[in-house]
Amino acid sequence: MTAVADIGMIGLAVMGQNLILNMNDHGFVVCAYNRTVEKVDAFLQNEARGTKVVGAKSLKELVEKLKSPRKIMMLVKAGQGVDDMIQQLVPLLDRGDILIDGGNSEYKDSERRMKECAARGLLFVGSGVSGGEEGARRGPSLMPGGEPKAWPHLAPIFQSISAKVEGESCCDWVGDGGSGHFVKMVHNGIEYGDMQLICEAYHLMKDLLGLDHGEMSNVFEEWNKGELDSFLIEITRDILRFKDSDDQYLVEKIRDSAGQKGTGKWTAITALDHGVPVTLIGESVFARCLSCLVDERQVASKKLGGPTNKKYTGDKKAFLEAIKHALYASKIVSYTQGFMLMREAAKEYKWALNYGSIALMWRGGCIIRSAFLGNIKRAFDENPELSSLLLDDFFRKETARCQDGWRKVVSEAALAGVPVPALSAALAFYDGYRSPRLPANLLQAQRDYFGAHTYELLGSPGLFIHTNWTGHG
Ligand code: NAP
Repeated sequence: MTAVADIGMIGLAVMGQNLILNMNDHGFVVCAYNRTVEKVDAFLQNEARGTKVVGAKSLKELVEKLKSPRKIMMLVKAGQGVDDMIQQLVPLLDRGDILIDGGNSEYKDSERRMKECAARGLLFVGSGVSGGEEGARRGPSLMPGGEPKAWPHLAPIFQSISAKVEGESCCDWVGDGGSGHFVKMVHNGIEYGDMQLICEAYHLMKDLLGLDHGEMSNVFEEWNKGELDSFLIEITRDILRFKDSDDQYLVEKIRDSAGQKGTGKWTAITALDHGVPVTLIGESVFARCLSCLVDERQVASKKLGGPTNKKYTGDKKAFLEAIKHALYASKIVSYTQGFMLMREAAKEYKWALNYGSIALMWRGGCIIRSAFLGNIKRAFDENPELSSLLLDDFFRKETARCQDGWRKVVSEAALAGVPVPALSAALAFYDGYRSPRLPANLLQAQRDYFGAHTYELLGSPGLFIHTNWTGHG
């Protein structure tokens, strides 16, 4: 059998099919394979009809149709499916062949798989793929990491099929081991945060300001023209405007309990594991959990007192501007926290991450794409060692500019009983981060009181002592 294909794709569900068609558009010959092999013919006869895509009915056939070094991308259900597939492929491949997992795998699995593949001479790459079906078809954000020797072979394909912003590809090499999937996980966590912040802005506009859907949609349209310009603001504008066949706004007919697939949770757990205060993403995950307690919330709404249906009586236009500032400043905090987490993980796993290029990878093609990421890229390009985005001159000035509105919104929301967990967590982080002295001195004293955990005196750094706080013996 002649080796005709530039790359093989395993998994013909929504992501695999669309990435294949995207690769075909860019002149690459793809060989398609799926565990349920009937789907191969169905794909060739329908979606891939008239393209250069070829099919394989077995893994052996797939391997034989690939040019050397073979490049095989898997877009199968994350978890055991990926390990099963690798296990079946290993005996069929030669040293130097490349295996890419493009699914939403956990970064620790990718770290392990890279080592297992390396032991057999195979080059493993775990790549984040973002942008859903549309992104996969027209240009996704791609975040590949793993065995660096694989990158020169993959770069021509990955960088041509990815999204482009101002001529630059939203795909670059992330780093070693599981770093590609780690960066994708943080991306998804940030997506949780961005969505929650927008939901809180909507909640305030609707309940506190009493805006109707047309007005709210117009506000998001305006916001999309400035510093908040992003895919999620744009779709919120459209969602708020959308009327069902009965002329009612569809969004108000949707049950207020949010689902999740787990990547936000992974980000929060990883942040706890690394001791990094990624509070906004954590609150966003918990906000989804709280939303799911629908029945309990119904009972509690009748029993627990507090302000309800309070309307803002001040200048509505000024308050809308304040909500915009609160959202923007909180978003800066969220990205600050996300990049802090990546920096900490990079230290632990010894990944050489390029934060500017990560911002560029997220700049287009993915759900969190926004103009704002261009400023993050600039900040890290100017200072690759930047410890915190908040300390970059531009972001420092932007948060200072937005601060009054941010404080006003969080306090008015508290007084009116409108929950804004992400906006207020962001403000608490900001105030904590800029505090030269926090009350952890008392906490240390408490720990020493009940557990003899010792404390360090300000006047004697490095000296840890214990006190008998009750003064007895
Ligand atoms: P999916 O529904 O997650 O998975 C279906 C595909 O996986 C089918 O091709 C299925 O083959 C295959 N599969 C499942 N278990 C398998 C096993 N044990 N061995 C071999 N193949 C197996 O598909 P998807 O939505 O296209 O997503 C693919 C990957 O991309 C997932 O990891 C997903 O999380 C990630 N992702 C998805 C999106 C999205 O918007 N959908 C966005 C980014 C990333 P059969 O046909 O034989 O069942």
